[in-house]
Amino acid sequence: MTHIVVIGAGFAGLEVVKRLKDTEFQITLIDRNNFHQFTPLLYQVATAHLEAEEIVFPIRQLLNKNTRFLMATVHEINPYTREVITDVTSLNYDYLVIATGSVTNYFGVVEADVHSYPLKTLQDGIRLRNHILTLIERASYATVEEREELLSFAIVGGGPTGVEFAGALAELLKGPISKDHPNIQPDDFKVHLVDANDNVLKVFRDKLSGYARERLEKMGVTIHSGRYVTELSRNRVYLSSGEEIKARTTIWSAGIVGPDYLTGWELPLDDRNFITVDHHLKVIGFENIFAIGDIASIDSHPLPKMATIAVQQGQYIAKYLSGDTTEPFQYRDKGKMAVIGRNAAIVEMGRVRLTGMLAWMIWSIVHIYKLIGMRNRLNIMINWVVAYFRKGGQTRVILPGSEDRILPMMELGKYR
Ligand SMILES: Cc1cc2nc3c(=O)[nH]c(=O)nc-3n(C[C@H](O)[C@H](O)[C@H](O)COP(=O)(O)OP(=O)(O)OC[C@H]3O[C@@H](n4cnc5c(N)ncnc54)[C@H](O)[C@@H]3O)c2cc1C
Repeated sequence: MTHIVVIGAGFAGLEVVKRLKDTEFQITLIDRNNFHQFTPLLYQVATAHLEAEEIVFPIRQLLNKNTRFLMATVHEINPYTREVITDVTSLNYDYLVIATGSVTNYFGVVEADVHSYPLKTLQDGIRLRNHILTLIERASYATVEEREELLSFAIVGGGPTGVEFAGALAELLKGPISKDHPNIQPDDFKVHLVDANDNVLKVFRDKLSGYARERLEKMGVTIHSGRYVTELSRNRVYLSSGEEIKARTTIWSAGIVGPDYLTGWELPLDDRNFITVDHHLKVIGFENIFAIGDIASIDSHPLPKMATIAVQQGQYIAKYLSGDTTEPFQYRDKGKMAVIGRNAAIVEMGRVRLTGMLAWMIWSIVHIYKLIGMRNRLNIMINWVVAYFRKGGQTRVILPGSEDRILPMMELGKYR
């Protein structure tokens, strides 16, 4: 039997496996986690609107008879001996599909990786939620000067992730958190959004991004557009305009690159460390290796890094390997959407452009539909309905076991 190894059970890798279920191929799916995560709702875990378990699904419950799963981290591949080397074992393949996603790009900003929080993985989401809730607990007993720093949050990057996070954070802080802490006023919280472009959500039409900006500002988010971050410290964000934001928490959602470990894999990489592929998503120079999803960079035709594209590439590879197509991969743009907050979203599908409550309802339905697992869908629906009527999520718990690297325990004593 032909053996296909798929590395990564994200949007792209999982789609390959699902689509090859009734074939003669023997498939091994490798992932470092035993779950698939639904990243579009990760910001809701970080802002205490959803439980972590609600946006993940166990990979083994999604497997077909012709697929086995290996929970392992891939350290290296050898394209010449057709070998994948993991921390658990090594395996040989006939075809290899690399779908390992991307990592945060700090653009070389001084100390950005040390003093900011990324939002890419479930662990990031849980850690960030713990951090935010811990800071607020400390702020309740801090002096006025200390409070200002503890209750200020800076978000770097005004793309969909930054905007969605900023909106959800403002709603959390100025709503349920202010109620939980009667000695903190909603206006004590400051949420800053920094973006190098002249407006947030530049991937959308001007009218839609203008609406998003207006809504965010109404929710109390201060937008610093046309500025980029030059340096970060423990409690300051330094901007290219010379301004400084006093904030104890910075969330970095400004960009992505290919992971460093790829440099040892002897595959062609572009200037952002993504694997270069041809129009059949084959790694340039290799007949039996494919790269799909965020990790792939299509020669001369760059595509945005989105789950919808990763899914379509996974579907294409399954068809291509089954011999059902020899056509080059073509992305079908089904539109894009982003949520800003309660009753506020934007949707752009071809000529259709929507804002407000209707867009928000479409956004909610699409996200529920795209989630994996009936239990997750039901749980999230119930949570959202309850949160809608009670004006806030119910998951404001600091989970034990996920220690905070930015606010180490030893330092907590400083805040009375
Ligand atoms: C916070 C956030 C919100 C987003 N919102 C949206 C949205 O609303 N709409 C949209 O279209 N896109 C969104 N995206 C982008 C979208 O998540 C990505 O484009 C998509 O996940 C890419 O899919 P992928 O399969 O290439 O990678 P991923 O989904 O990242 O999957 C990669 C998998 O590979 C595994 N892996 C990585 N390295 C290794 C290794 N060395 N060994 C073993 N396993 C490994 C990982 O554990 C993971 O399971 C968002 C991204 C983020 C971070």
